[in-house]
Amino acid sequence: MNKVNEILNEIGRAGRAEDGSYTRACYSPEYFEAVDITEKLMREYGMVTSRDAAGNLRGVLRGAGLGHKSIIIGSHLDTVPSGGLFDGAYGVAGGLEVVRKLKEEGRKLRHTLELYAFNAEESNPLGATFGSRAVTGLVSPEQPGLAEALKNYGHTVDEITACRRDFSDAKCYLELHIEQGDYLFNEGLKIGVVSGIVSVISYRVTAIGHSNHAGTTMMKNRHDAMVAMARLITEADKRCRAIDDTLVLTVGTIKCWPGSENVIPGKVECTFEMRHMEKSKTDELIKEIREIADSIDTVKFEIVNMINKGSVSCDAHLMDVIGAAAKEAGEKPVVMPSGAGHDANPMAHRVPIGMIFVPSKDGLSHCPEEWTEPQDTEAGAEVLYRTVLALDAED
Ligand SMILES: [Zn+2]
Repeated sequence: MNKVNEILNEIGRAGRAEDGSYTRACYSPEYFEAVDITEKLMREYGMVTSRDAAGNLRGVLRGAGLGHKSIIIGSHLDTVPSGGLFDGAYGVAGGLEVVRKLKEEGRKLRHTLELYAFNAEESNPLGATFGSRAVTGLVSPEQPGLAEALKNYGHTVDEITACRRDFSDAKCYLELHIEQGDYLFNEGLKIGVVSGIVSVISYRVTAIGHSNHAGTTMMKNRHDAMVAMARLITEADKRCRAIDDTLVLTVGTIKCWPGSENVIPGKVECTFEMRHMEKSKTDELIKEIREIADSIDTVKFEIVNMINKGSVSCDAHLMDVIGAAAKEAGEKPVVMPSGAGHDANPMAHRVPIGMIFVPSKDGLSHCPEEWTEPQDTEAGAEVLYRTVLALDAED
């Protein structure tokens, strides 16, 4: 049907380990190897390419029409350590397949088509989605430790702020990605039309009790911060499930003081991270967590908001166009939110965004087992192609 798998495997020559995992850390030689492969293909398919200090690669295919804004496609080429073939690279391969097919079919778009291969989308010392944040002007020069971290990669803060582009000439941003969850796979569906990217809201929760001797302090006299925290976590987990099916809560870190086998914990600190499309749901959860905390009287709880990244919505019109393109391609598209962050997140602050998901086998991602069936990756690329053609027919 199309060559997206061939292209994806070509990119996958970069950073592949013998155990079948892929590691392309930001600014690493493996990352730039993937950039080189991608740039070569962009040029072969007729794009004019450029790179920036944030490590991003951009390909431009000039449109035939005058006064039309750019249709932008993007995704990332970096990976987590020992990640899979698909996360990020699949979206770049899908964009390349669009350009290849246009050339093969001898079609000339009226709109200029751009393809970004972003750097540093995954967690890294510069902060996640660094490449797309640089392009959208969302890297704050005041970000703590930014200058030192950049120095390690041979760059300066000024070089990064200069990466910002003007999006007044952009019509929209499209991103094709694996779901990284198990919804499409379990439902036996191939195409997800993403409605938005969920929020990330995180609180530092501290339980303050009294440290004391583990042998001489009877149970009824204890102010054990660990036990109190354990109660709060299990209760919060229950409430989260009761509020909404798609509301998630994760307590992923825990610190304990003094942290000794024979001392009752006097202080325990955890992070409570919650995500949902609607603010009202996360607001409700934190309100209930505060109420549970108030009801536990052996310790005092402190709850401080640390991260408050709001959800972003995909553009309703782009969702319609993607849905129609999927039906035209013989698929049954389903509308769904994205539980993971993407380069589309910073982009949404500058242009209307649309995202297409394909299934992840068993919902696995960020691991070597990450897998999407070849016919599914082809279906996703086909939907992206048809979406671009449909958008090109508009103003
Ligand atoms: Zn990704």
